[in-house]
This record gives sequence, C-alpha cells and structure tokens, in this order.
Amino acid sequence: MKSLRTTALKEAQSRISPEVKSPSTKISEFFGVNVFDKKKMKDFLSKEVFEKLVSSIDQGELINHEDANHIATAMKTWAISKGATHYTHWFQPLTGSTAEKHDSFFEPSKDGAIEVFAGSALVQQEPDASSFPNGGIRNTFEARGYTAWDPSSPAFIMESKAGKTLCIPTVFIAYTGEALDYKAPLLKALSALDKAAVDVCQYFDKGITKVSVSLGIEQEYFLVDRALYNARPDLALTGRALFGHISAKGQQLEDHYFGSIPERVFTYMVDFENEALKLGIPLKTRHNEVAPSQFECAPIYEEINLAIDHNQLLMDLMEKVAVKHNFKVLLHEKPYAGINGSGKHNNWSLITDTGKNLLSPGKTPKNNLMFLTFFVNTIKAVHEHADLLRASIASVSNDHRLGANEAPPAIISCFLGSQLNDVLDEIESSRSIIKKVKSEDSLWLGIPKIPQISFDTTDRNRTSPFAFTGNKFELRAVGSSENSSAPMTVLNAIVADQLTKFKVEVDKLIKKGEKKDVALLTIIKKYLKESKDIRFEGNGYSQEWEDEAAKRGLSNIKTTPKALDAYITDKTTELFANTNIFSKRELHARHEILLESYYKKLQIEARVMGEMVNSIIIPASITYQNVLIENAKGLKELGLSKEALETPVNIINKVSEHLSGLKVNIDKMLEERKQTNAIEDSRDKAIAYDEKVKSYFDTIRYHTDKLEQIVDDSVWPLPKFRELLFLK
Ligand code: ADP
Ligand code: MG
Repeated sequence: MKSLRTTALKEAQSRISPEVKSPSTKISEFFGVNVFDKKKMKDFLSKEVFEKLVSSIDQGELINHEDANHIATAMKTWAISKGATHYTHWFQPLTGSTAEKHDSFFEPSKDGAIEVFAGSALVQQEPDASSFPNGGIRNTFEARGYTAWDPSSPAFIMESKAGKTLCIPTVFIAYTGEALDYKAPLLKALSALDKAAVDVCQYFDKGITKVSVSLGIEQEYFLVDRALYNARPDLALTGRALFGHISAKGQQLEDHYFGSIPERVFTYMVDFENEALKLGIPLKTRHNEVAPSQFECAPIYEEINLAIDHNQLLMDLMEKVAVKHNFKVLLHEKPYAGINGSGKHNNWSLITDTGKNLLSPGKTPKNNLMFLTFFVNTIKAVHEHADLLRASIASVSNDHRLGANEAPPAIISCFLGSQLNDVLDEIESSRSIIKKVKSEDSLWLGIPKIPQISFDTTDRNRTSPFAFTGNKFELRAVGSSENSSAPMTVLNAIVADQLTKFKVEVDKLIKKGEKKDVALLTIIKKYLKESKDIRFEGNGYSQEWEDEAAKRGLSNIKTTPKALDAYITDKTTELFANTNIFSKRELHARHEILLESYYKKLQIEARVMGEMVNSIIIPASITYQNVLIENAKGLKELGLSKEALETPVNIINKVSEHLSGLKVNIDKMLEERKQTNAIEDSRDKAIAYDEKVKSYFDTIRYHTDKLEQIVDDSVWPLPKFRELLFLK
C-alpha cells in the first residue's frame, strides 16, 4: 500500500505555480481600490456629511441617525458598483481570528426586489454570539452581543471567486456593555493615551491637540506544501509538528536569512501582496527569515487601530491565497522544534497632530526634553508593569519561543542602545540638579546633547524583548499568531497611566514654585533611578542575564498559566480602572478565557499525540520490526553465525525498546489527562496540563523521533522535517 507520505511527496514535487498577474505595474494605481477610503467617501457623500464623518474619524464625534443613513446608502452604492452583493460586520472576538456574518443587500419588495442598507444596519448589529468566548460574562439569558461600527477603520470589500462582500470593521460588546473582543479595549486605551499624552505635550507645545499611536507590524510565517501538511495530522490539527527528528540540515549554515526567495514562494508572495495592497494594506518588505521555509513581510507603519485591523486581515488573506498555491501558511509560533519560531515585531511610537514623533530624539535641547519625557515615561511604565506586559504575550504556543535562544526571554527588559543609555546615565548622575540654574539655556549645561541616533547604531541587539530602535520602541516578544491588540492595549494603557502620574508629580513641583523645565527634569531623574533595573544592554539569551535579572528582582515567568496571574492583580485592576479600559469583571473574564484556551490547546495536542502514536507510529514500527524478524529467521535458517544475526537482532531490540517506551508514556499521559480533565478551577487545570500532562510530551517525542531514524525510510508514514522544510 502506498503511504500518504509517498503520495504527498509526489504531489509536492510536481507543483506548478498558478499564473499571477498584478493589476498594474504601478502599485499606486491599484493600492486601496477595495477600500471605502476618504477619497471615495468624498465622491459618494454630500460635502456636509463627508465633513462630519471625517471629524468623527479624527475626533471621535458621534454620528446621528440621519447621517448614518446617508453614509450607509453611499457605502452601499459604492460596494454595489464594485460588485458586492452582501455586507458583514467584521469583528475580532477573543478566539484570535476574525469573525463575519454575511447578510445580503437584497430585500423583496412589493415592486419586485431592491438592494437596501440602512444606517441602523451599518451602525449596529446583533449577531447570535452565544458561542464566542466570553469568560462567563454572559449567562444564556443575557446572551446577546452587539457589534458596533468603528468609523476610524474604513470599510472594505473582500473578494472571492464566488462573490464580493462589503466588510465593516466593528467592536463586539455584550448586552451589558462589557467588551467581548480585542478592538474595544484597544480603542479605549488609545483614548486614555491620547488624553494623557496631550496633557503632557502642553508643557512643550500648546498647539498639540491629539496624540496617536503608530504601529508597524513585522509578520513572520512558515510555508509548507499543502499535501505534506495534510499528511501530518499534528500540523493540521495543532499547527505544529508534535514529532519529527530535526533535519540533518537545518539553519546551521545560516544560508536562508535574506537568501534568494524560491520562485514558487515568490509567486505566492506577489499574489497575496497584491490582494493586500488592494485592501489598502501598505506592504513594503518581504524576505526570507532565519529558518528554512520561514519568511517575513512588513507593511509601512500606520495608525495603530488600522495597523492591527490590517494585520488581522493580512493573516486571513495569506491563508486564503495560499490555497491557490497549494501552500499552507503556518502562523504558529513554533511549528518545528530545533529551528527558529515566528514572532510579530510590534514597532510602536507616538505621533502628534502637528506631525511630530514624540520618540524621535530631535536636534535641539528643547526637543530633547520633550523626547526624554516620553522616552523615560515609557521605560518607567514598562518597569512598573513588566509582569502585565509579559502576560499580554503569553500563550501556549509562545511559551515554546520565549527564552528558547531565538526570541526574547520571558524576562521583560528594555534595550536602549549605548548612546542613549549613556545619556540617561549622565542625566541620572548629574548632581547639579539645576536648582542653581538661572536661565533656561544654561539649564542644559552638564547635560549631554543627545546625538542624532543613526539607525545602524541602534538596532543591534536582537535579544531584547523591548528595544528602542532610533525613533520607536519595538516589542519583539509578540507571538506570530497573536492579535497585537492584546499587548498593544497593555502598552498603551501603562504609558497612559504613567504619563498621568508624571503630570501630577511635575505639577506639584511647579505649584511649589519650581521652574517648569526643572520640575520636568527632576521627575525624569527620579524615574531614571526608579526604573533602572529594567534596562539591559547585554545578551538577553545568556544565562548571565537570567542570573543578573534574578538579582535585580525582575520576574522570569516561563509559562503561561502563571504569567496570566498579572491580569487580575490589584495593581492591574487599578491601572485599568484608572484608564477606563477594563472593569474587574472584564479582566476576570479575559483571564478565564486565556486559561481555557491554554489548556484546551494542550488537551488537543495530547489527544493528537495519543492518536498518532497508537494508530500511525506504533503500527509502522511494528511492520518494520516484522521485516527484521523475518530477516533474522531467514539468516538463522541458513545456519549463519551468531555474529551475522547480531545486526537484525540489535535493531529489533532497539525498536522494541522505543516501542515500549512509547506505549508506557502514552498510557501514563492518558491517565494524567483523565485526572487533569476532572479539575474544576481553570488556573489549576492549566497548571496541571502544563506541569503534568505536557511533561510527557518530550519523552514521547524522543522515542518517536528515535524510531523515525531507525525505521525503513520507505515505510515511515509521516513526512519528515527535511521534506517539510525545503520547498521546491
Ligand atoms: P527592522 O526592524 O527589520 O530593521 P524597519 O526598520 O524597516 O525594520 O521597521 C520595521 C517596521 O517599523 C516597519 O513596519 C516600519 O514601517 C515601522 N516603523 C518605522 N518607523 C516607525 C514609527 N515611527 N512608528 C511605528 N513604526 C515604525
Ligand atoms: Mg524589526
């Protein structure tokens, strides 16, 4: 019988890429054609309503019923002119993927049929949402959930062969008002940060009335041939290879990073990039990553709410377009043990409505004080809430990556680069705390001028989870499959809260008669002292750093169930209450959802492992063992010496040894799983899954991978790493 692996390999080797044609040779000619952006709004709306909508987008002003009807009609007209027949509220429930429920514009009427789209359908909908994760927020009797239009992220048309759909970005909230998605808390955090940052900006520039957050998300991913993927139940059901001996050639030659892109992959990239560009996703960069068959794409940064919507949309598109190319995209953080996993670098900075990047060091001392204020407050915020930031990137899949010598460790720290680090040290130790200073200018005596940071001297340390890279911070610990909203809500919230506290402290000094700049610098100095422990310039992957971090009292929480505790501490509850982002009930609900997701994913992995070992790996090994037994019998019949029998007998013994190792451990794991499943409390259950059930995974894998190396290659049923990883 032909194994699935043999057929899959044949299929994978004979792939021909589909024809891919760009809509135009100039990207600018088709960029955003499927987006109801400002230009199209202007074309389809009356001048008055257009202006109202723009001020709603920019300032968050409410849109009245009548205007909503007008906008809905305009959107419908545009969408129908593009061939759309349906519309959907597009939202981001806590499952991690996006959700949509399509309705047709079509409605029967007494004169036949018409297409309608009312303002009320644009603004709010009530999807039957009882089966989305809610962490106990909704009882069945109040199971209603609402989606509500987010005008700050433009509507777009999703194309598929079968039809086109107008998608309206929305938030998703419970009947009782609690957030059930990622977007609602992000928008609240942005509003808190805007207010706090504008207040602080007033010290420097009264003309600033809005501060928004910019985000550029670098997305790493793996590609695998679809036939080979389908022949691996573990990849198909858990997103990662639960077994598989590391390929003899992996990433050790360092020949993949920035290497030339294989033609088949390149064709796929162009195809999904075109689709993304049509949707207004400003993709700019593509390249190979460190591991074989690992790649990265990155857009130009955008306003954060849009950047995150675009990233969610991009992940969805990448998967859809991959079907046509017979690829499967693996967004899992660690699909293959032994080679690098994938992350999603979040490049974050603060931009004013005057066009200023608050994290750009600038040229003049005055600008420097403004920069220093935001720079140091960010560091201080991360120091205060490092555990919460750690929690925000915690997931069962990211646990494989963090601290595994390929991604930042589970210890949160900030890397600033030696130039800025020295500047901060000098400021901190300068004793002339400026009391004596009379004039504004001489204030800066003794404070080194901050050099213009050239990009090549900053971004050297790739081992830091939170690195300053010239004019932005880069959170590198985010998992590749994660919705960036979770960590970005936290980052924006902690910086907002920190800036608010900063202002209170500075105002106090000013009230006491201190000069404004002196007051600012005094508090900055104080923060520098208080947050010093979070700064680390060395190798974040090293054991020395783990030891040093422990001495400094920094947390190093390696697994998710315990990392998540930070979501429900008093400190976090207070932070989110201060910033008006989450109620205590919402935090507990989120905590519960994250724990559930953690143990459910491990439960699935454990089940898949059991099934594969019992019904694929053991039978294949026994088949091979029988061949050896026949061979040994034959040798014996021929009357050959004991020495001649040694080889088959040795191999038979080895196979037996690993088979019994497998069986014993699989059975033990099964027993442990049964007991763990009976645990009621989610946190206890998650910890038991981690510490008890998962503890068998490595041993089970060890025996399987040994068998893979022993058993005849032609009967081994699962595609091997060398076949999965090197794309033709
Ligand atoms: P790398 O980190 O690989 O060197 P780049 O320097 O090209 O990559 O930047 C990565 C991402 O950071 C891109 O998406 C880029 O648009 C984004 N980025 C650049 N400047 C900013 C900024 N001020 N705020 C947010 N993101 C930014
Ligand atoms: Mg980067």
